[in-house]
Amino acid sequence: MSAGPSYAYFEGKIVPIEEAKVSVMTHTLHYGTGAFGGIRAYWNDQAEELYIFRPLDHFKRVLNSAKLLLMDLPYTPESMLDILLELLRKENYREDTYIRPLVYKSTTQIGVRLHDLDDALTMFALPFGSYIPNEEGAKVTFSSWRRIDDNAIPARGKITGAYANSALIKTDAALSGYDEALVLNQDGHISEGSAENFFMVRDGVAITSPITANILEGITRRTIIQLLTEKLGIDVEVRPIDRTEVFVADEAFFCGTGVQVVAITEIDHRLVGSGTMGPVVGQLRDLYFNIVRGNIDHYRSWNVPVYGPQV
Ligand code: PMP
Repeated sequence: MSAGPSYAYFEGKIVPIEEAKVSVMTHTLHYGTGAFGGIRAYWNDQAEELYIFRPLDHFKRVLNSAKLLLMDLPYTPESMLDILLELLRKENYREDTYIRPLVYKSTTQIGVRLHDLDDALTMFALPFGSYIPNEEGAKVTFSSWRRIDDNAIPARGKITGAYANSALIKTDAALSGYDEALVLNQDGHISEGSAENFFMVRDGVAITSPITANILEGITRRTIIQLLTEKLGIDVEVRPIDRTEVFVADEAFFCGTGVQVVAITEIDHRLVGSGTMGPVVGQLRDLYFNIVRGNIDHYRSWNVPVYGPQV
């Protein structure tokens, strides 16, 4: 793997990464008033092509988050994709890559607010492997932290300040020896993981929390719902999930751009199903990795090629 990144989009142009620097007085650095995205691009050796997975959906979500933060940015999802393509071609990556767009309040001023501040976009991309080590058998705990509520910091925005909540959750889980944590809402129902959405399978039906459960509206979650119904013929129920339902589920898994599809095989010392990766998660993982790498024609519209012709 090459080190990367060598470049960043910063202050309206692509510059060497060393030049992409902000002041210690930058508003977002103090008050968490930024928003970000996380996108993956997959290298396909046979096609000699780097495919970005659903970038327009990701950029649309970044701009929705910007809207929540009262930002005024001169970008569209399409113009952000143009920047990304230029950036990746300059990096010339021939390996799996993670892309981080970040919109932030660039004014160097003290004062908590959203209005009367300048807004900016930066973006960079780096080589990236897996995010959770035990992808086929993650050990998970219920966090003692609660998920931030829509009326406190909206979880549907990928708001930088909200990730203090995710960091508290992740670190407690990791330092206690777990791979990840599941997080409950104030009402005690399951929201999601620290940085991934949650599904479980009970009696042949897949179940996931609704977008009103303080979850990030995940693009992988949407992809998985479509694949479950369209490809695996499995019904998906979107409804509140009780904590103890997971203990009696047949299968459970996390999904997200970073984690991809990760089987949860143990939760708070109880085995999920038989304690090994189940058939639904197994099939989904195969399908997902084939799709993101650009190997399945039917879903090719989700893969944006970096080097070859744009369709
Ligand atoms: N929930 C949270 C809190 C996240 O940070 C992420 C990662 N972006 C996800 C869910 C998964 O979202 P996506 O599938 O769009 O990457």
